[in-house]
Amino acid sequence: MKMIYKPQEYRIKDERMKPFIDESEIWEILDSAEPTKENVRAVIQKSLAKNRLSLQETALLLKTEDPELIEEIKAGARTLKENVYGDRIVIFAPLYVGNKCVNNCTYCGFRASNKKQKRTTLNDIQLRSEVKSLEDNGQKRLILVYGEHPMYDADFIADSVRTVYSVKSGSGEIRRVNINAAPLDIEGYKKVKEAGIGTYQIFQETYHREAYAKYHLSGQKSNFDWRLTGLDRAQEALIDDVGIGALFGLYDWKYEVLGLLRHVNHFEACYNVGPHTISFPRIKAASDSTIDPRFEVNDDDFIRLVAILRLAVPYTGLILTARETKELREEVIKLGVSQIDAGTNIQLGGYSEESREEQQLDHEQFEIGDTRSLGEVIDELLDKQYLPSFCTACYRKGRTGEHFMEFSVPGFIKRFCTQNAILTLAEYLEDYATPEQKNKGYKLIDLKVEELNQKDSLKVAPLLDRLEKVKEGERDLYF
Ligand code: SAM
Ligand code: SF4
Repeated sequence: MKMIYKPQEYRIKDERMKPFIDESEIWEILDSAEPTKENVRAVIQKSLAKNRLSLQETALLLKTEDPELIEEIKAGARTLKENVYGDRIVIFAPLYVGNKCVNNCTYCGFRASNKKQKRTTLNDIQLRSEVKSLEDNGQKRLILVYGEHPMYDADFIADSVRTVYSVKSGSGEIRRVNINAAPLDIEGYKKVKEAGIGTYQIFQETYHREAYAKYHLSGQKSNFDWRLTGLDRAQEALIDDVGIGALFGLYDWKYEVLGLLRHVNHFEACYNVGPHTISFPRIKAASDSTIDPRFEVNDDDFIRLVAILRLAVPYTGLILTARETKELREEVIKLGVSQIDAGTNIQLGGYSEESREEQQLDHEQFEIGDTRSLGEVIDELLDKQYLPSFCTACYRKGRTGEHFMEFSVPGFIKRFCTQNAILTLAEYLEDYATPEQKNKGYKLIDLKVEELNQKDSLKVAPLLDRLEKVKEGERDLYF
């Protein structure tokens, strides 16, 4: 089967850019949902058969308060994760390039009116030094993060992407650069696409216009619709790999889950492909920030919402960040997370500093909950028999966009993802692991190769051949 998929030529029409969120429609769906044991169980089964859920079906899960059913929802999410995704966890790191910002998002330490925030934009030397430190740790996938400022225009973002790709340290290199930045115009997206980005990520923060207006006081970001249609413009520029997200804690969490789903539906209807990933950051403490405590999402509800998202969109990647603590991350990963950041340091220039005792909120965006090193996170994943993956093969082989959803192509995971995860883990073990970790990692690799051989009856000779080559020093081998 031919696996190279190309995005279609110019597709979007203005009609599609119309804002698609109708607050009263979402509330009506939530208000009219009446969960029973029967209908909730039927919805879980539908999802376990790998079907997308409708807004109405998801609302039944969201409205469920019966503790027994909530446990069944979580169990369903765990099963779905095992069946669809297996035991791989893709690893990345965020790299903050600049924290100047013209907007005033009340929850964010970078907002323009926060005079305590020390403003920094990494220059070429500093950016290179950050990337080198990340590579020397074993990172292969980055997400570059920027405040919203005229200085951080499309040319600037594209330049920083090119710089990141150009830094090589030993056998270290960054193979995929994703972006989390302000929405651009179509010309701007074309420029950053040219520079070779992976995913363009924009979080809507809240899908409720009135709440949005309360938190986004001034600057370009205060325009809800400009932001909402930001990733449609990306599609028009033929960036078909996009990530959406909501910042949980700004408004009712059940409403936001349906908002995210409505956004997914919009993409599927207009472009025949959903977003590649969904993020669900929770508000954390930030320098001089204010939020509305009524909407705080507690740990139990957070766990619930991730399980419901997993069931609602079985084929979409879910990203869990180091905003959450190690303990909570362990719990939530089981429910269907496919990507996590590790070794995270969100202080401007923080990766190249010798050591860091504690966070300085006046030089970073918010407080993080998991400050472990990449090595520590990998160690824990190995102990729990997860397969840490630094794979970047699909995007580099052009397997993105409309026809490509890694989970929906039968046999895709074992033929590509698992094998590539094994090869990238082996590279990590060869180049960056301690002897104990190397030992532990290869034991897991042996186990996974055996599973592929037995359980999935995959012919593993080509994989073993490449594994041998990695041990001999060849790098960047993938299927
Ligand atoms: N400035 C760009 C923007 O707002 O789109 C780039 C992204 S911003 C630096 C990254 C994301 O961090 C925001 O979209 C928001 O969801 C999240 N964020 C902001 N303040 C936060 C806080 N106090 N706790 C957790 N996440 C926060
Ligand atoms: Fe600026 Fe983004 Fe922070 Fe808003 S969330 S203040 S746009 S950096």
